[in-house]
Amino acid sequence: MSYVTFKEIGKKYPNAQDYTVENFNIEIEQGEFIVFVGPSGCGKSTTLRMIAGLEEISKGEIIIDDTVVNDVHPKDRDIAMVFQNYALYPHMSVYNNIAFGLKIQKIDKVEIEKKVIWAAEILGLTNLLKRKPKDLSGGQRQRVALGRAIVRNPKVFLMDEPLSNLDAKLRVSMRNEITKLHRDLNATTIYVTHDQVEAMTMADRIVVLKDGLIQQIGTPMELYRNPINKFVGSFIGTPQMNFLNAEITENELIIGKELKLNLDEGLSKKLNGTKNVIIGIRPENSRQERLMLETYPEKIIRKKIINIEKMGSENHVYIDFLGAEFVIKANSQQEMKVGDEIEFILDLNKCHFFDVDTEKRIF
Ligand code: ADP
Repeated sequence: MSYVTFKEIGKKYPNAQDYTVENFNIEIEQGEFIVFVGPSGCGKSTTLRMIAGLEEISKGEIIIDDTVVNDVHPKDRDIAMVFQNYALYPHMSVYNNIAFGLKIQKIDKVEIEKKVIWAAEILGLTNLLKRKPKDLSGGQRQRVALGRAIVRNPKVFLMDEPLSNLDAKLRVSMRNEITKLHRDLNATTIYVTHDQVEAMTMADRIVVLKDGLIQQIGTPMELYRNPINKFVGSFIGTPQMNFLNAEITENELIIGKELKLNLDEGLSKKLNGTKNVIIGIRPENSRQERLMLETYPEKIIRKKIINIEKMGSENHVYIDFLGAEFVIKANSQQEMKVGDEIEFILDLNKCHFFDVDTEKRIF
């Protein structure tokens, strides 16, 4: 039995023509860290707000721990929500901000103190309990907001883009802190973000949304290795997957007019008579090792470098491939500059093949 269940959930705003979210189904286990990810406007926050009770559910049922919560008042759903803007009370100390929800619940003072001290310890706020929010850094404020959520020991944590207001470095460290916190508390968490890196690094399972519809649910590596369609392929992974249109003959793959690659028997079989495909090529699916190039000279592709992003550990090399920008991961030890030619081979056995019409993955 799952802990949080979405059964055929749909949301239609009163003034909207269509459903904003539809056919939303998932069973979430106790203790799972689930991330809803997708581009802005795809319905992530709407779905999260339906769990919280901040938005009415138009269709279907949400069940938390055996109870259908559609008509349960938000404050009785036993959930805690952390937002992008920390929503701390500016005139209250850190201690009182964390304790606020418990005081409202009229919990015993000694009990409250125990819980606040416990949360402050976990979140590294012990020395800051007397400070006001204005005297804290962004990361510290977000930790107070987390503290306020964890002292309530809710059934489910909901987090809506909690790291968006932080600078890049702090985002990475808070990402780690939230993941560790989740490991320590093992609390069921649903986390919303538009940032696929956050989704990949934090989630037990990711739900990819587009236009209010679930595209795919899976572990980060399942989505990375086996994206169900071109959208998921392009959304998960950085730099993004490259796409090329190709024509297939019996034993050849023809890309544009100029490039013809032999298809081995295995690939031909899998393509099973398909005439046209979209090939999805991750930046790491291009090979440039000398030995590879010398072994398969007929497969070598040569392109002029139009930009190089030096990441330190590797280079991201941008080329123009039939009018589209194409990115390749290259060894950072290799000397190269803009204007040089790069030589590489497409590792077709690692590439993904998508149907031209449906954009679903063939394999
Ligand atoms: P996301 O969190 O993925 O960025 P939202 O759930 O906030 O997306 O919004 C999904 C869609 O619903 C958007 O097109 C947005 O404009 C619309 N929307 C959000 N809130 C309302 C509202 N109160 N009334 C009408 N439309 C809304």
